[in-house]
Amino acid sequence: VISLFEITSSDLLGRKGIIQTKKGPIHTPAFVPVVHPEFSKNFIDVKKFHSKFNIDFIITSSYILKKRFGDESINLHDLTGFQGPIMTDSGAYQSLVYGEIEFTPQSVVEFQENIGSDFAVPLDIPVALIDSYPKAKKKTLETIKRSKNLPNLVSNDDTHWVAPIQGGRFLDLVERSAKQLSQVNLYKMFAIGSVVEIMKNYQYDTLIDIILTAKKFLDPSKPVHLFGAGHPSMFPFIVAAGCDTFDSAAYALYAQEGRYLTNTQTFLLSELDEFPCNCPVCSSLTPSTLREMAKPERMRCLATHNLYVCQTEIMNIRRAISSGTLWSLLESRSRVHPNLKKGYDVLLKHSRQLVSTSPSTKKKGLFFVSSSDIVRPEVLLHYDRINQLKFKKPKLLLISLLDNENIELYEFFKKIKSIIMDNDELIKNYEIWILTGFYGIIPLEIGEVFPLSQSVFSHSLTNEQLTKTILKTLDFIENQSFSDVYLIGDLNRFLQILPKIKSKINFKGYSLSTSLDSIQNISSILNLIIKG
Ligand SMILES: [Zn+2]
Repeated sequence: VISLFEITSSDLLGRKGIIQTKKGPIHTPAFVPVVHPEFSKNFIDVKKFHSKFNIDFIITSSYILKKRFGDESINLHDLTGFQGPIMTDSGAYQSLVYGEIEFTPQSVVEFQENIGSDFAVPLDIPVALIDSYPKAKKKTLETIKRSKNLPNLVSNDDTHWVAPIQGGRFLDLVERSAKQLSQVNLYKMFAIGSVVEIMKNYQYDTLIDIILTAKKFLDPSKPVHLFGAGHPSMFPFIVAAGCDTFDSAAYALYAQEGRYLTNTQTFLLSELDEFPCNCPVCSSLTPSTLREMAKPERMRCLATHNLYVCQTEIMNIRRAISSGTLWSLLESRSRVHPNLKKGYDVLLKHSRQLVSTSPSTKKKGLFFVSSSDIVRPEVLLHYDRINQLKFKKPKLLLISLLDNENIELYEFFKKIKSIIMDNDELIKNYEIWILTGFYGIIPLEIGEVFPLSQSVFSHSLTNEQLTKTILKTLDFIENQSFSDVYLIGDLNRFLQILPKIKSKINFKGYSLSTSLDSIQNISSILNLIIKG
């Protein structure tokens, strides 16, 4: 059996890879456009989704299909005009909202198998935002029960089954769903549901909490889908939290309302005097010509542009994963809107969870531009590494760069090393640590390990964070057994803190500039220290 999901690179919980299907590969992360099952009802020619937009995977509604065709024999690929893999939902969500059609677990399975769905979902019961805990629990447990019974209902193995993870804002229910359905081998994929209303209310913090909770317990070898992802500004966050594919109807819904998407914002067509985009639509039209077009043609053009925007954002995210810069992408997007910032803050809070899947080396250096970068996974990994090191030399030289964050660490390490190399006494008896704001202690001997000397900083830590770094450092030194501790650099911050705490360390301080130009001064001080 070939593996369905091959991961080629990852960053945070985002995974770039390929889901192999008989109908063609799905490159992840994938944006999965929601299409109307009837070809003619779509604004855009679905036949061209792959050739024109690079779209590998689409989703359509079982509810509409069942309502329109009942038990007629139909084929999903003929009907939509899309020859790549197609996902169908169970129809449960709309049947809850609109009623009319009877769905049973058995009929939902048969229906999706008969129409040739490539990825199908058993009959689930989505949790609504207003549901009380007991009501949500009842729905979730029923979804789990039905989903576990699926192996008794399927009749062929042409359809990949997708396990619905329900529970909504109740994280213990999400956890329960994820744990239980990870045990059912039949499922090739998971899909997180019950988030449509949460997305509509811009509760991005809740959304990220739900995804991260599910991810903790889902089998990591299988892809994870998110139902109802909305605006492209959320895509990077959804991917970073661990969703490999996600559907969105935003490109069409926004077009219907005359709305023009960018990867971070939404504009009314009426407020644009030029298009901030170079897609085939925008490069051949002006906003005023588009405004004058007949409505169907106008909506087609808007939807086409919107679809390009969604797909371009996906390509942007994939590039960020393979170059290891997804964190920077999130950071910049979090500044666009307070709701995005809320989602970002949840990721920061759980950055421990992102460590395990973030690569320990990357092709690109790291840029530290914001105080929140102090919890990025690479920093947490560095602290883990430091805690495992054993320091055996009797004395410590601590060179503080806390007030010199702009310094090029690579150059600094090189110069300090060349000074040390000439000095047997230093090599033999002194641990040499460089103290930086973001990474805290960097022992000189690991200075070249990624990403330490490949990091570029800006002065962006708060006083509170710098104080915390000093306190952590003092703590760390106290747990070692150095006979002498020498502190070199701009010592003002230390001098402010030391009198306020009861540190057992007896520092010998040498205040001096640590800029690259004055490295000779450091050399002189070191000679002084050695001579006692
Ligand atoms: Zn455009």
